[in-house]
Amino acid sequence: AERPYVPAVVIGSGYGAATTALRLGSAGVPTLMLEMGRLWDTAGADGKIFPDMIQPDHRSMWFRTRTEAPLASILWLDLVNRDIKPYAGVLDRMHFDEMDVYVGRGVGGGSLVNGGMAVTPERDYFEEILPRVDAEQMYRRYFPLANRMLGVNSVDRDWFEQCDSYGYARLSRAHADRAGFGTTFVPNVYDFDYLQREEAGEVPKSALGSEVIYGNNYGKRSLDKSYIPAAIGTGNVTLQTLTRVRSFRQEADGTYVLTTERIDELGEVRGVGEVACKHLFLGAGSLGSTELLLRARETGALPELSGELGEQWGPNGNVMLGRANHPWDTTGLVQSGMPALGIDNRADPVNPVFAEIAPVPAGIETWASLYLAITRTRERGRIEYDAATDSARLRWQESQGQPGIDQAKAVFDLINRANGTSYRHDLFGDTRAFENRFTYHPLGGNVLGRVTDDFGRVRGYSNLYVTDGSLIPGSTGVNPFVTITALAERNIERVLAEDF
Ligand code: FAD
Repeated sequence: AERPYVPAVVIGSGYGAATTALRLGSAGVPTLMLEMGRLWDTAGADGKIFPDMIQPDHRSMWFRTRTEAPLASILWLDLVNRDIKPYAGVLDRMHFDEMDVYVGRGVGGGSLVNGGMAVTPERDYFEEILPRVDAEQMYRRYFPLANRMLGVNSVDRDWFEQCDSYGYARLSRAHADRAGFGTTFVPNVYDFDYLQREEAGEVPKSALGSEVIYGNNYGKRSLDKSYIPAAIGTGNVTLQTLTRVRSFRQEADGTYVLTTERIDELGEVRGVGEVACKHLFLGAGSLGSTELLLRARETGALPELSGELGEQWGPNGNVMLGRANHPWDTTGLVQSGMPALGIDNRADPVNPVFAEIAPVPAGIETWASLYLAITRTRERGRIEYDAATDSARLRWQESQGQPGIDQAKAVFDLINRANGTSYRHDLFGDTRAFENRFTYHPLGGNVLGRVTDDFGRVRGYSNLYVTDGSLIPGSTGVNPFVTITALAERNIERVLAEDF
């Protein structure tokens, strides 16, 4: 069969991949993007592209027979999840021994399913995790660039104070305040003007219509509304969806040859093919890119890959918890699915917690205040290659999550004490108050300056690059996508200047 050749291939279409594709295309490099999920641009029978969280259907999850939402239960009842038909849905929950990893599937990767919180990390912590990156340049040039390109905006403060949509956030702020904790507004890529018009009843509801994690039909500037159309608009970038890269090898002349598998939306394999390229960029996410490199090393295709592959993996200290409110403290029937406020205890050296005040967009009063706490610990796991199943395995023990729970507990014990409240024990399937057996923020595996050089070039081979969250060693202290984007902008600028 014909083996197509393109100068550059980008695997994936999340933050790192989309950024890289745009800059390659702008520089005139013909580039092919390969994404295993579908393009989310066509309405289903209900007139919507994505389902909501209350009645999720086949579109919600990646080949499952039942949804697997992060909040497993309410009052221990399995009210949240639904039986669904297997389909190339938008959210995947990857299962490993003692940790599950949520990721987006489709053109735009995690940007399709995430909460849109666009947070630039504190500079001193950034310098700590990536000491070899010129922080001055990052904060002067690449963080502002990423924020601009992603369409980051902030909620109008006056509106925030009197709207219905963020009643739940104001309540949590008052409770935090009583314990002496400060809060900070969190910028977002969701269009807050649109959100205001949703509350005013002027436009179809998305953030106010229980939409998040299975996609947003309106309002959100996901990558398929920002970087990706810009990339395609250069005329040099083409996109191939429902195409999973299985493996790749390098030929004697340096050409990379990828083996791809095309599926249809029902999972039927439509064909296996090959594509060749000179420059190969891995943007398949922390687990995806690390798996591809581990497979290449362990099967002997690229034996010189770093021995540090798979190391420094972390869940960004994610800990989810709920507090039980007094009957008079209602959080409201309408809750914006896009968080806008966080409890900010990052300055505390002992418990440096940044806790997003999360919605419970159940459409009913649950008397629960929910939080996704981002804690900071030195605990790291490792991604390994399992030859028997030809797939990645995540080595992370539940006990490694305990230091993060301890940090979150230190903060929320004080908030509960100051308010005479307690934890909710009914939200995570059993009676635990703190859930960190899953993460939204997988990071690491191909750490910058270790597995790659200081600009994402994979050590041991030329013209091979990593562009995504796997470059960051396990923690950013805040929600990670702005950092992933800014780092990708920085790296591709250097690579284009020196390697093309
Ligand atoms: P990804 O965005 O994961 O993109 C990787 C892409 O590669 C995917 O589209 C995947 O399908 C594709 N792929 C993988 N393997 C292959 C293969 N072999 N072949 C072809 N394609 C492949 N972060 C924030 O900053 N703020 C938030 O508010 C926030 N909320 C979140 C909420 C949820 C529910 C989730 C799941 C995540 C959230 N995140 C948030 C995290 C954020 O979305 C991720 O950190 C980010 O998407 C990671 O970017 P990436 O470029 O590393 O890869």
